[in-house]
Amino acid sequence: MIEEYVLDTISEDIRNCAACDLRKYCKLPVSPYYHPFIHTSEIILMMIADKPSREEDTCNTSWFDREKEYVARLIYSIFPSKLTYFTYLTKCYCPPEKSLSAKTTKICRDMHLFKEITTIKPKFILTMGHLSGKILLSKFTKQPKYSDIFIDESYCLGYYKSPSVIFNESKKKEPEFINYLTKIKTTLTTRS
Ligand code: SF4
Repeated sequence: MIEEYVLDTISEDIRNCAACDLRKYCKLPVSPYYHPFIHTSEIILMMIADKPSREEDTCNTSWFDREKEYVARLIYSIFPSKLTYFTYLTKCYCPPEKSLSAKTTKICRDMHLFKEITTIKPKFILTMGHLSGKILLSKFTKQPKYSDIFIDESYCLGYYKSPSVIFNESKKKEPEFINYLTKIKTTLTTRS
């Protein structure tokens, strides 16, 4: 496939998906956000939150609510915005009365997230949230700890608290998160 269209095809597949019952609770699955002129090979950082918020579902825009926008601004202070890709473990909004099941997260992971990861091959994958960490880091450990970094021959992965935790406790959490991002940058510099 021509490079320019790879990310568009992934987004289109997500938008048209109805593979699990979460689809009936959302307006549309929320496709990832990335710079319009980026090539997959240039993407350094893939950010993964657990799921879209109600606001993101309403606007059908990825990483758009105030918590995630706040976290994205912190990320841009360390990594260029153009080289960062923002997505979710599950692409459909999940209402508060319905909790995300392991079955649903695995369906979405296997249909979309694994394809995003294997197509883009980001230099670093940062999971932000309990579910994303648990589901993606199970290969490395059953109990990932926040701020850990996991490395194998193919990928570097990190695990951190959700954007809402950083936003709601910003005075304490912001410097900790910036330190963690700096640690990621150092890890990537050391590996390159
Ligand atoms: S949560 Fe994922 S697998 Fe389920 S309908 Fe939405 S996009 Fe498809």
